[in-house]
Amino acid sequence: MMLDCKRAVTLLIQNKDLISPSKVVSQLLAARNKCDSRYFLHLYLHSLFEMKPHAGRDFHDMQVELYADYDPKMLIPFLRSSQHYTLEKAYDVCVKRDLLREQVFVLGRMGNSKKALAVIINKLGDIEEAVEFVSMQHDDDLWEELVKQCLNKPEMVGVLLEHTVGNLDPLHIVNMVPNGLEIPRLRDRLVKIITDYRTETSLRHGCNDILKADCVNLLVKCFNEAKRGICISNEEEGAQMQRDRSRDSQATERTVITRTVEVKSKTRGDARCCVCFDPLSVQNVSVIAFFCCHAYHMDCLVDSMHTFSSKKEAGVTLREQLSGYGEDEDDDDSDDNHSSVPRLRCILCTTAAG
Ligand SMILES: [Zn+2]
Ligand SMILES: [Zn+2]
Repeated sequence: MMLDCKRAVTLLIQNKDLISPSKVVSQLLAARNKCDSRYFLHLYLHSLFEMKPHAGRDFHDMQVELYADYDPKMLIPFLRSSQHYTLEKAYDVCVKRDLLREQVFVLGRMGNSKKALAVIINKLGDIEEAVEFVSMQHDDDLWEELVKQCLNKPEMVGVLLEHTVGNLDPLHIVNMVPNGLEIPRLRDRLVKIITDYRTETSLRHGCNDILKADCVNLLVKCFNEAKRGICISNEEEGAQMQRDRSRDSQATERTVITRTVEVKSKTRGDARCCVCFDPLSVQNVSVIAFFCCHAYHMDCLVDSMHTFSSKKEAGVTLREQLSGYGEDEDDDDSDDNHSSVPRLRCILCTTAAG
């Protein structure tokens, strides 16, 4: 009987709810003597895996073998994406068929990275892959192992030297090389190492400069944010102020946020005013707290600012000052020194800073 495998497979997979994968597999296995049923099994399971990776999970051990026999190139992608095969069995299959890269992958998944490394170095002889493999594992002992396993192969030591940047100390390798071992093109390789290191050093310097500049900018921003005051007032007053302010700033359509802060948690000491040392929690007295955790009675702060600052205009009332809050956030680079309405600042911190 001739069988159109492609159409049969598509048909079976489209109707896999009617004819379950286990039925197909068991029937194909039973027909072992009549036709090349393993090949059909491979075609079926491969298509099934591509359509629904988990549908045939019970047969993934078998599938490893089928891939190894009929389509070794697809074995690694399968090993990578399936979680349902037994690692030991898969390893045996790869050893029997001498599939080296597959062995390395399975060994890596088993956690036996030393053995995997030995396979790469001794059987594959691919030092670049060895370096890649070791750098993927993030294991310092493995680097040591890599150097050790390479030492009796001069050409490999040479290639290893070329791949040290960022991974290994080339001096360490040179020290470990036994006396009398001739490494091909050693001089050129050392020159290359030094050039690579120079490039890397200058790159790192550049990165550091950028990071420093970023830090300074962010600190300046943070400082400018922190030296603003937070208004603490009772609710009716706050609501009244918000109404006033939203009327004022309707043209610019800014949202004004009044933050009511738990005074005790924010201020140092026993929530006392930093000027008169009376408790802050007296009702119906507005309180100003700063991000430096100093808090003041509004009146005390304004009086003290009159004393400290000679530039301050006497006519500026408290309300006028408060209406300046939260309205200059967008042009924050240049506003601080030229703002027409002076902003409330923590006297302790700003006078101490000069
Ligand atoms: Zn006070
Ligand atoms: Zn302060």
